[in-house]
Amino acid sequence: MQNAPRVPSVLANVGQACYNCFKERSPGVKLMRCSGCSRVHYCGSQCQKANWPKHKPLCKAFKAVETTQGTHMLAPFLFLDDDEHTLVVKDIPKLNQAIERVSSVLIDGLTTELKRPFITAEKNLIGWEPRCLAWKIKCTGKRR
Ligand SMILES: [Zn+2]
Ligand SMILES: [Zn+2]
Repeated sequence: MQNAPRVPSVLANVGQACYNCFKERSPGVKLMRCSGCSRVHYCGSQCQKANWPKHKPLCKAFKAVETTQGTHMLAPFLFLDDDEHTLVVKDIPKLNQAIERVSSVLIDGLTTELKRPFITAEKNLIGWEPRCLAWKIKCTGKRR
């Protein structure tokens, strides 16, 4: 059963379940983000290690693209509310344009880095790009 090829669930693709065993986030299940790409989450280091051979190519590609292309360009169109959890959109048309640009820059960059077409699981994961805007804004300290 463990070796049956399964594509990660939608919840795993959006960071609400472990990307390896698909266990859902709950009070008893804490998920940690992949420190390389921040795209996928694991319920523990065992799952992270088990998934690494599969995840490695895309993880490295994400990192390479973000280092060279800088996907933080969405930050000026968003800011975190006082509770630090709510994202407020300042300019929806501009945000939509930026999202389209970031997505196409990322997809082009990732394909170049990978030097091959995406496999199904990667396509599913990339379908949610760009994501995690909130933590990126926090990370870059650009609260507005
Ligand atoms: Zn797991
Ligand atoms: Zn990763």
